[in-house]
Amino acid sequence: EKIIIVGAGILGASTAYHLAKAGAEVVIIDRNDDGQATNAAAGIVCPWLSQRRNKAWYNLAKGGAKYYPTLIANLEEDGEKNTGYAKVGAISIHTDEEKIYAMEKRALKRKLDAPEIGEITVLNTEQTKALFPPLADGYKSVHVSGAARVNGRALRSSLLNGARKHGAKVFSGNASLLCKENKVTGVIFNDKKITANKVIVTAGAWANQIIEPLGIQFQVTSQKAQIMHLQIPDESTGKWPVVIPPSDQYILSFEDQRIVIGATHENYAGFDTRVTAGGCHEILNKALQIAPGLSVCTILETRVGFRPFTPDFLPVIGPLPGFSGILVANGLGASGLTMGPFIGLQLAKLALNKELDIELSHYDVASAVCN
Ligand code: FAD
Repeated sequence: EKIIIVGAGILGASTAYHLAKAGAEVVIIDRNDDGQATNAAAGIVCPWLSQRRNKAWYNLAKGGAKYYPTLIANLEEDGEKNTGYAKVGAISIHTDEEKIYAMEKRALKRKLDAPEIGEITVLNTEQTKALFPPLADGYKSVHVSGAARVNGRALRSSLLNGARKHGAKVFSGNASLLCKENKVTGVIFNDKKITANKVIVTAGAWANQIIEPLGIQFQVTSQKAQIMHLQIPDESTGKWPVVIPPSDQYILSFEDQRIVIGATHENYAGFDTRVTAGGCHEILNKALQIAPGLSVCTILETRVGFRPFTPDFLPVIGPLPGFSGILVANGLGASGLTMGPFIGLQLAKLALNKELDIELSHYDVASAVCN
């Protein structure tokens, strides 16, 4: 079975790895666009505290978090040790005690069918600040030990390296679809035709560009996000937990004194990859209110990424309606690092006609397509 994957963010890279490991002949083509979501992503893997009620969405997020340890172990067996994943836990912080207990209750309820959430502990203000010293005074928290952070860049590289080790070929550049009488037969890459049994399009926010020539519109919208990387002097940050404040912001810590704060949610920015004054102002303003101890940090860089959203903020996964030889997955939105590896596994199974771990009808690609 020869399969071409177009687009290698976290989703395409995971699909490629699983297909190659299963013995398929895999070709990956990726354009590495500025604004690739995976390259800019923060890296929180902690879906259980979300208040979103959509079950189909939650099942992907929950399944994604649960799958990580298995995937990381498999990659390590393949010699990929720098996956960027670490189960450092998370603290969901609040100044209001009632909110803390409501959060704890929610987490305990979620634990019933997601033991991977780990230990759930309510921490007082001192305990909370001890776990993340730059924090302002007065925050209590719920600590969740099963939460993790992952460096999207590192994980993507590990997956692609792993795929290569299992025989996949990785090319960089643009691909367009080869299609004859509603059957996709391959791609055009560098003016050359490459044929395959199936093409899998995991092209993130850019997916409509490649699908549109088939005569249909693929409804993916991009939400611009700016995110800042800081360096904090004189601290050992490698084991600090993810900080989830009550706002739409977050703080993550990585090795080498690196702190990541963000992000913006810009809905009408198109594919504008600029770092803006307003974006940085918003991020710094919100982060320094929560954690004034970060004011001493060096600003290292600001990254820009485009979160891909499909209608109803629900991912779509499966065959492209009206065509054969093509599978599509998209719409991982703000949780794609959490879900991406798991959805990639499902796509690989789908391409190889194996039984899936998800109910595919909940993610019908038709809901994102119009003629
Ligand atoms: P992308 O990573 O965007 O990859 C798509 C790829 O397809 C690109 O490389 C592009 O160049 C390529 N491509 C497109 N068209 C073509 C073509 N015709 N030919 C060749 N290549 C093509 N998720 C979490 O779970 N936790 C987080 O903490 C988190 N934080 C985030 C913070 C930010 C700032 C952003 C932007 C996102 C965050 N996300 C997070 C979400 C997550 O990053 C995305 O949902 C996920 O990375 C999407 O992956 P993808 O593979 O679908 O798309």
